[in-house]
Order: sequence, then structure tokens, then C-alpha cells
Amino acid sequence: MFDVLVRSVPSRTSLRYLRSFNRVPSLVRDLSSVTAEDVTHFSKILSPSCVLSTFPPSSAPVEELANFNSDWMGKYKGASTTVLKPKNTQQVSEILKWCWERRIGVVPQGGNTGLVGGSVPVNDEVILSLRNMNNIRSFDPVSGILVTDAGCILESLTEFIAPHRHIMPLDLGAKGSCMIGGNVSTNAGGLRLLRYGSLHGSVLGLEVVLPDGTVMNQLSTLRKDNTGYDLKQLFIGAEGTLGVVTGVSILTAAAPEASNNVILVLRDFKDVLPLYQIVKQHLSEILSAFEFIDKGAYDLATKHGQGRALDDSDVEGAGCFVLVETSGGKREHDEEKLNELLESLLSADKPLITTGVLSQSPAQFSSLWALREGVTEAVSKEGKAYKYDISIPLSAFKDVVDATREHLRKKGLMRDDAVKHVIGYGHVGDGNLHLNVVAQTYSKEIESALEPFVYELVESYRGSISAEHGVGVMKTHALHYTKDAVSIEWMKKIKELFDERGIMNPGKVIV
Ligand SMILES: Cc1cc2nc3c(=O)[nH]c(=O)nc-3n(C[C@H](O)[C@H](O)[C@H](O)COP(=O)(O)OP(=O)(O)OC[C@H]3O[C@@H](n4cnc5c(N)ncnc54)[C@H](O)[C@@H]3O)c2cc1C
Repeated sequence: MFDVLVRSVPSRTSLRYLRSFNRVPSLVRDLSSVTAEDVTHFSKILSPSCVLSTFPPSSAPVEELANFNSDWMGKYKGASTTVLKPKNTQQVSEILKWCWERRIGVVPQGGNTGLVGGSVPVNDEVILSLRNMNNIRSFDPVSGILVTDAGCILESLTEFIAPHRHIMPLDLGAKGSCMIGGNVSTNAGGLRLLRYGSLHGSVLGLEVVLPDGTVMNQLSTLRKDNTGYDLKQLFIGAEGTLGVVTGVSILTAAAPEASNNVILVLRDFKDVLPLYQIVKQHLSEILSAFEFIDKGAYDLATKHGQGRALDDSDVEGAGCFVLVETSGGKREHDEEKLNELLESLLSADKPLITTGVLSQSPAQFSSLWALREGVTEAVSKEGKAYKYDISIPLSAFKDVVDATREHLRKKGLMRDDAVKHVIGYGHVGDGNLHLNVVAQTYSKEIESALEPFVYELVESYRGSISAEHGVGVMKTHALHYTKDAVSIEWMKKIKELFDERGIMNPGKVIV
């Protein structure tokens, strides 16, 4: 019953009521709704195909706006009447200038794969889709520096630089849809962070249109620039609350000559940490990923066809799995190291693993990765997911999953018609656990059983309530579990400084 997409456009008051489940924050400022006059103005800035609105001259049916108004999980719904798809920075600037004057809220949208409801409106804000800004501006194969429009899809960028023997410093399951501007705006982590670090390091420059339409050109291609405050950092992870990222300059990495992967099967979670220590020491410079999947996550991935299931005999007695990837300069050398590691693990007096399945071909390499990368997709096929993307000490991963399951059991919610699974997976190397509660449907009862329970648990470990997905609309009320009052106050001051009218992505991150 909470999944109803708002099909007609009711008054703002009733919209707030309808979507109270989305926690529309009380501090959202009074903003103007888009009118026919606004759409006429936007139609002077953009060509007709780039304006999608229920108002003339576009007069699109509300259904055509549905995908823009709904997030990837189908959990958060907006009621925007107007989607604008500019083709260049100048057009973004003119749109924002108008919205600033008219006090119209603006929601920047990339691939709309975000998992915290940041990319859809809380009311009827304009959606500014970056999908038509998809030109690669330059690539220097010597330095590896790529300058690109914000609307380029991550996978397309990967494909563009591959012939130049470079790879993007980030990779994630949503690569086929997410856009580099969205990645930067969420400070996406993903599967390569262990090796290449966060976007705070690899992004060299940004072009940003500020809320009043001013263009801030920080599109530097310099690796070193110590001329005072590094303003671009503020926009990395700002989730569209400070401005619209229109251009990105990013340092890509030389492609490794060889990549291998292996799935290690463990009886017990307690062995993951000693295993991580051994793997790190043994593989050292060629270790590029160390990912964890518990048995529940593995079962869901295979049930929904993500990767090929391991042989039954390999999975027997398994408590959890670890995917190890190596990327290095010489195939024989890397394979030798990986084989030696496997042999020593299996011949140890008290082996930490029961077996290891090594990929032997590019197809097997992808299939093993799919078991891990495909968990998010599998979860969404299985039911409605409550996703907690948290940073906690590695030693606490299993305790947090178990404690959450036990808590829900005590509340009588671990039943087929309520919560079907509580699973854990994630980036062990980064201390990032994805705690997923898979339910039959979204309900108030489950949500209030989970929150603040999960946030208090995270706080007790001095962890973070968002390791990589961001705050969006989902966690605005929970920031204080991770940030102290002084930090939150300064975040508010920064927001105020850039956007005193509160038009940029209202109701998100800081309210
Ligand atoms: C299957 C799957 C796997 C995923 N795996 C990972 C993972 O491993 N690691 C990870 O970190 N995330 C992951 N995610 C979450 C998501 O893909 C990332 O957050 C991604 O970076 C979002 O990019 P996007 O283009 O889809 O942005 P959107 O979802 O469109 O937007 C996300 C936020 O950024 C803002 N925004 C978008 N573009 C701009 C712009 N140009 N300027 C200003 N603000 C903007 C939006 O307003 C919104 O607040 C996954 C999602 C899915 C569906």
C-alpha cells in the first residue's frame, strides 16, 4: 500500500500527506511549484525533445514521468511535473538562474541508481536529468586524465579508455546505468576502492553550476594544486545539495596486465579476519579486492541467476564466502602467487577455508564476480529491501547481522509475510558492510523495528550510518548517529552559503 505512484498531481499539502512514508522533512522550505509559464520559459532554453512536462507546450501524460519520479528500488516516489534534459553547461546555468529567481526546487538526476532516495523529488521539484550531457571532453593517455561531461555512463567511460589500456578508478554493480556525475555526487565507493582509493583522491577537478546559475570552473587537470581551499571536495558526496556537477576531471589508472579471482569458502565468519591478514601479506601489491558474502547473500545471488553457482560439494558446510581479486603486471607471476596462497591455506594445520574456486577463463572470472556484484540485483528481485550501508569494525560484521535478525525475530517479524531474509555482504577491505533486510513489502512496522535499532548499533561501534550510498532522504534524521553537533552545524552553514534559498535537492542530506 505504500508503493502507490502519485499519478495525478494533487496539491502540495496532500502530496506531503501521501508520501509521509518518505519522511518528507519538516524543514523543507516553501518553494514554488512549476507553472505553465515556467515550462514556456524552459522551452525557450531547451529544444522540445528535452522538456518533458505535464504543462504545455510539452503536455506529456503523467505516466511518462513515472520512471524519473521513482527510485531504483521503487521505495521513494516523487511527484514532479517537469523533467528537463539540458545538453550543455550553459543550458544548466540558464535553468538554474530561472529556478533560483522563481524559488523552484531542483533535483539533479544521473542514472537514478542511488539507494537512499536522493535522486527523486520529495515534492514536485523540477528534475534536472544529466543524461543528454554525455560527451567525453578529452583523454590524455600519457597522464591517464579523463575530462568528461557529468552524464556519461560509467561503463561507457570504461569502454572508451580500455583501448588506451586504462581503467576507471571505480567500478560498481550499477555501472551500466550510473553516471560519473552521480558517482561523484554520491562519492561512490564500489569494488575498486581497496586498490585505487576514494573519489576524493582521484577526482582532479569539477565544473559545477551553483544554485543561482553561476558556473564555477574548477575543471583542473593538475594532480598537485595547493592554492588554498580545495572547493571541489565539497561537491564530492554533496548529493546535489550544493549545485549541479556538469563536468568531471578524473585520474584513471593503467590497466593491469592480468586479473584473476578466486572464491574462498569458509566454515565460519570468525575466520574472515585472519584470512584477510594472510591474503594481504601474501598477495601484497597485487591484491585488488577482498569482498565478503554471507551464505544468505550467496543463496539469493544464485537463486536469482547472478553468476554460476559453485558445485554442491564446494558449498557444503559453508558459512560464508570471500572473493579475492588480484590485478598485476605479469600473469604467470600473479597466478603463481595465487596458487601458492591457495595451497598454503588448504594445507594449514587448521585451515581457514574449506575450498577455493579459481577462475580459469574470462567467462569464469565474470561469473565469480557476478556472485558478489549481483547480490544487490538479487535482493531487489527477492522482495523489498531495507538497505543499511554501514562502516563498522570488520570484527563486528557478523554480530551486527545476527543482532538485527535476532531483534526482528523477537519482534515477531521474521516470517514469510514480513521479513524474509537478513543478509550481510560487502567490502571487507574497506570496513563496509551492506546489511540488507529483505521484506515482503515495505511497512511502517518493519521500519520502526529497524530504526533507530540499526543506527544505535552502528553508533555503539563508533561506525558510520552511510559508508558509500550517502544520506539522501533516507537518513537525514539519523546524521547525528555519526556526525557530532558541531559538524552538523557547519554542514548547515555551508549549505546556507551556497544555497540560501534552499532550491538544490530539498529534503536531502541536511535539513
Ligand atoms: C545494483 C547496484 C549496485 C550498486 N553498487 C554500489 C557500490 O558498490 N558502491 C556505491 O557506492 N554505490 C553503489 N550503488 C548505488 C549507486 O549506484 C551509486 O550511488 C551511484 O554513484 C549513483 O549514480 P547515479 O548516476 O545513478 O546517480 P543518481 O542515483 O541519479 O543520483 C544520486 C545522487 O546524486 C545526485 N546527483 C546525480 N547527478 C548529479 C550531478 N550531476 N550533480 C549533482 N548531483 C547529482 C542526485 O541528486 C542524488 O542525490 C549501487 C546501486 C545499484 C542499483
